[in-house]
Amino acid sequence: MTDFAEGASNLKGQRMARQGTDKYWNPKIETMSADEMAVLQLERLKKQLVYNYNHSLLYRRKFEEAGMKPEDVRSFEDFRHIPLTNKDEQRRTQEESIAEFGHPYGPGTITCAPRDKIVRINATSGTSGTPTLYILTQNDVEIVKEMHARRFWMVGIRPGNIILQALSLSMFVGGLPLSQGIMHTGACTVPIGVEGGTKRVVEFMTLTAPDALFTTPSFAQYLLEQYPKLTGRDASAIGIKWVFPVGEPGAGNIEMRKLLSRGFGGAKICDQTGGGHGFAGAECLEPPDVYGGMHLMSADHCILELVDPKTKKNIEMEDGAMGEMVMTFLEWEGTPFMRYAYGDLLQITTAPCSCGRPGIRFKITGRADDMLIVKGVNVFPEAIKKEILKFAPKVTGYFRILLDKPGPSVTPPLKIKIEYGPGLEEREVAALQEQMQKTFKETVRVTPKFIWVPPNTLPRETKKTKLIEVAEVNGDQNK
Ligand SMILES: [Zn+2]
Repeated sequence: MTDFAEGASNLKGQRMARQGTDKYWNPKIETMSADEMAVLQLERLKKQLVYNYNHSLLYRRKFEEAGMKPEDVRSFEDFRHIPLTNKDEQRRTQEESIAEFGHPYGPGTITCAPRDKIVRINATSGTSGTPTLYILTQNDVEIVKEMHARRFWMVGIRPGNIILQALSLSMFVGGLPLSQGIMHTGACTVPIGVEGGTKRVVEFMTLTAPDALFTTPSFAQYLLEQYPKLTGRDASAIGIKWVFPVGEPGAGNIEMRKLLSRGFGGAKICDQTGGGHGFAGAECLEPPDVYGGMHLMSADHCILELVDPKTKKNIEMEDGAMGEMVMTFLEWEGTPFMRYAYGDLLQITTAPCSCGRPGIRFKITGRADDMLIVKGVNVFPEAIKKEILKFAPKVTGYFRILLDKPGPSVTPPLKIKIEYGPGLEEREVAALQEQMQKTFKETVRVTPKFIWVPPNTLPRETKKTKLIEVAEVNGDQNK
C-alpha cells in the first residue's frame, strides 16, 4: 500500500495540528472551567495590552485618555476604563494613513504588525463606505484555522465530509479563511463561490455530492427554489446533512431553520458566526430541536463584553442580558481589536448547555444600526422576518422594509413590500393581510402597511440581502 500521507506528514509545518478526542478538537481549551479561562484571559490580556500600546498610536491614545499605562490594568475591572474603539474610527484612521503615507498600515491605525509579518489581508464586505481591513500574520491565520476546526468538529464534520462553500469568495472572510479552516479538520472544501452564479453552484452541487452547505440563509432559501427548476430533482435528494447559514442573521430564526431543514431533506442547521478573525461562535446542536444559541468557541483568544448600545456603559454578563458586543483579541498580531464595539446586538445565556461545554452561549439579535423606532417602539428587521416566515407558504418569505428617509426614526406606518405565495387569489391576500397585521400588532407592537407583490418580484441576492431600502439618500441609489 502506498501511503503518501505518511511522507507528507513528515514535511515540516504540514502536520495536522489536531490533538483532540472524538468530541473535542481541543479538549484542554474547550473543557476549561470559567475560572480557569478567566485566569488565562487576564494573563494574555496583560501581554496584549503592552503589545497594542507599543505598536499603535491610536491604542496609545486610548490609554492616555484613561490616564493609564498597560501595566495599570491588573483586572477586568481596570480594563473597562479604556475607551471603546469602533468601525468608524478604524475606517477614519485607515483613510488618514492612506493620505499621509500612501498606505493603510500607518502607526495611527489599529494595524500593529510590521509589514514583513503580514501574510493576508481580508476586508469587510463594504456595504457601507470604504471596506475596513483585517490584517493577519501567520500567527493570526493559524488561530483562525483552529477556531474553524473547533466549530466544525463540534457538529460532527470529519475527514471524508465534503463542504460546498457557496459564499462570496472575494476578500470576504467566508473565502480563503473558511477554506483553510475546513481543510484543517481534514474534511474537504469545494470553494465554488457565488460569483459564478446560481447555475454553476447548482451544477457543482450535483457534480461533487457535498454533504454540507455553507452559504447565506437567503441564498440557501433561493437554492431550494432553483435546484428543482434547474435539475428536475428535489433538493432533498442531494444528500446535504449540514447547512451552515452564515453572513446574515437568520440561522437562529426557528421558521427559517424549519424551512431549510425540510427543504434539504432533514439537514441539521448549524448556526455559526462569520468568524474570519478572533470572534468565533457556533451552535452545538444539543438538544437537536431547540435553538439554544452559539457557544463562544474562542474565549482563549477573545474577551467578550456587553455594553448598552446608547450609553456604551458595561452590562453584566448575566443570564438573559442583552447589549452591544464589544471584543478584545488575545495573542493577536495583525489588527488586534481592543474594546472594539462591533455593532452586533447579543443576548447571553449562562445556563449550562446539555452538551457539557462550559462558558457562555449567545444569540445575535440584530445590528445596533439596523434598529428602527416606530412611535417609540424599537423594531428590528430580523424580528419582522421571523413574523413573516410564520405565514409561509402563503408568503414566499421575501420582503423589503421601505423607508422614506434613513432610520432609525420611522414615520408610521412602517411600509413592507412583500411577496404573496404562489397561487394565492386577491381575496385570500386581503384575508392574509388582516391576519398578519393582527399578529404584528401583538408581537412586534407595530401595525405595518403591506405592499403586496407577486412571487419572484423581489431580487434574490446571492450575497448579503439588505432588508431595508431607503427611497432617497442624498441621490445615492446604492445605499
Ligand atoms: Zn452545547
